[in-house]
Order: sequence, then structure tokens, then C-alpha cells
Amino acid sequence: MVDKRVVREEIMDIKPYIPGKPIDEVKRELGLKEVIKLASNENPLGPSPMAIDKMKEAVAKVNIYPDGNVHNLRQKLSKSLGIEANQLIFGNGSDELLVLLAQSFIKVDDEVVIADITFSEYEFATKIMGGKVVEVPLKDNTHDLEAMLAAITAKTKMVFICNPNNPTGTIVERREVEEFLAKVPEDVIVVFDEAYYEYVDNSDYPQTINYLNEYDNVIILRTFSKIYALGGLRLGYGISNSELIGYIDRVRQPFNINSIAQVAAEASLDDQDHVLKSLEYNRQGKQYLYQEFERLGLDYIPTETNFILIDLGRSNQEVFQQMLKKGIIIRSLASYGYETEARVTIGLPEENKKMIKALEEVLS
Ligand SMILES: *Cc1c(COP(=O)(O)O)cnc(C)c1O
Repeated sequence: MVDKRVVREEIMDIKPYIPGKPIDEVKRELGLKEVIKLASNENPLGPSPMAIDKMKEAVAKVNIYPDGNVHNLRQKLSKSLGIEANQLIFGNGSDELLVLLAQSFIKVDDEVVIADITFSEYEFATKIMGGKVVEVPLKDNTHDLEAMLAAITAKTKMVFICNPNNPTGTIVERREVEEFLAKVPEDVIVVFDEAYYEYVDNSDYPQTINYLNEYDNVIILRTFSKIYALGGLRLGYGISNSELIGYIDRVRQPFNINSIAQVAAEASLDDQDHVLKSLEYNRQGKQYLYQEFERLGLDYIPTETNFILIDLGRSNQEVFQQMLKKGIIIRSLASYGYETEARVTIGLPEENKKMIKALEEVLS
């Protein structure tokens, strides 16, 4: 037995992340040939064909270390976002950026205010550094910014706002965000995780980049994993003022973004047709699924993303297992503390159809 004294006490109650079940694992375990995964909010169209071409070219050059500065992508992205190049930091997925943020700013016993329920990695990053999360219940399935403001104490170092929120798919609107920012103390960092930014089509969604001029304590996180369909390459980015970015950059490893991801991301930004196509599929899939959930008498939360939270009306674990046997992976939200809710990613028309058919069989 390992002597527990060798382990940092702060990490003792970190629970391992439970990812969406991988397709190959389900095939292996259940002896299935065809498996559809609608569990991790991946873009079902796959990456842009232009990105695929660039990746192929880059493969032959992986003997060369990547550009640690991510120069070309940095230039392209800063121009399209209307910010300076030094206002960006890249991470091995926004997951890595969450850890870098924690390493840069969170000390033992610092408090971090998050929603209950939200993306689990804020808690993970906080705990690595010995910080404590203060959870504020959702109101109407989205962040209750007034209550989150009230939860800020002298110990609070950071607040995470997952907007749109995973797993509910809801947003907090501009007016609420602006009232909130005006009242948050300057020594509390406000992080907007906008992993699903590109999917939102609500005109009251805040353009948080506009707040960077006024507030020096705002950090925005986005990713190439969702609409840009590069989850397997791991590439996310943070946007803030150059000073905060500079601090986070101190704890970043020099070559954290691989060379294939860098060219793939550039090409993906160039292929806005693919983005529009992805949005169109998502819009249609969403309408189809809403209609089918209604037909099946299932409650759901209208979404601003590429996933939908549904109430199955019975044990989500059980339905998850039975769906698995039919070759459909959804996300039971049991690990988030929900008993009857599940999250499904909006897939291709054929995938959505098969998912609904399986769900109907399981529920009947
Ligand atoms: C998927 C997701 C991420 C992680 O993105 P990566 O860039 O793949 O690490 C971050 N935040 C939320 C809310 C997500 O759903």
C-alpha cells in the first residue's frame, strides 16, 4: 500500500472524469457492429474537408516541433475577433486552459463560485490547486447570476459562467451579465466558458469580447472541439487582456499545441461554409428532435447548443444501458447528480432517427 502521506492532501477527493462512452468500447463490450455516439457534443459532420487536407500535409512533418507561439493561427484568430495577438492563449483543449487558469490564480482555500449544475471540469481544476468550489443552484435551468454574486466572499478568486451552460443548453443574457460584471469585485476573475458560442442564435447572447475594454478581470474560453469538429486534436483558446494572458502563459508548457491541430484550426476558420452547413444540420436536427420528444411525451429544455437535456421520466442509468444494447450512446446525467435526465447530442438526420426509434422502444 502506498503511504498516503506521499500524496498531496488537496487531490484526495478528486473524482475521475467520466467521459461519454467511446464507440469502440461499446462495440467491443456488446459485440455490436454499428454504434452511434450522441454523448459528447461532437459535430456529426466531422471536420472541414479543407482542414483534413491540411492535416494530411502536416502529418509528414511531425518530426519538427510545433510552433510554440502558434503564430499563424494566432494572427488569423486575432484578426477575425478584432483583438490584439497577445490577447490570446492556446490550450490543449479548453480543458487544459482550465487547469492553467487554476495554476495561475488559485491558492489553497481560495473559493471558486460555479453553478450547480454545470461542466464538471471547473471543480476538477479548482481542486487540483486546493481551492474550494462554492456551488450556486441554477435558476430556470441557467446560471443565477444574482445568487452567484451574493456567494462571492473575500476568499473568492474566480467565478465560472458556462454560457451556454453544459448540460442544460441554456444561456444567461446580456443584461444579466452586464449587471453582474458591474458589481463583481476587481480582484475576482470572471471566466466565460463559451465552448458552444458558435451555435447560439439568441440575439440577447452577450458578446463578451466587448467587455474586455472595460473589465480587466474577464477571461473568455472557446474551443475548436465543438462546431469546428477537432475534439480529437485538443485545441482551445482563451481571450483576455494581454496582462492576464501573460500570467497564464507563464505556466503553459512550451509546445502544448501540436502542429497538426494548428494547421487544422486555421483551415477550419477559413471554411465558414462548413460552419454554416454544420449550423443548418444542427437547426434541422433540433427541430426534428423537439418534435419527436413532444410526440413521446418527454420534457426537454430548449437549447442554444448542439445538445438537448431531456427528462426520461425514469432512471437515466437504466435507459442509458438499454440504449447501449441497441448501439446508441447517450449521456446519462447520473454523474451530474440527475436521476431521470439525459443529454443527447444532435446528430445527423439518420442518427437522430435511429436514436428516437431506440428510445421509443426502450421507453415503451
Ligand atoms: C466540451 C466542453 C469543453 C471542452 O472543450 P475542449 O476544448 O475539448 O477541452 C469546455 N467547456 C465546455 C462547457 C464543454 O462542453
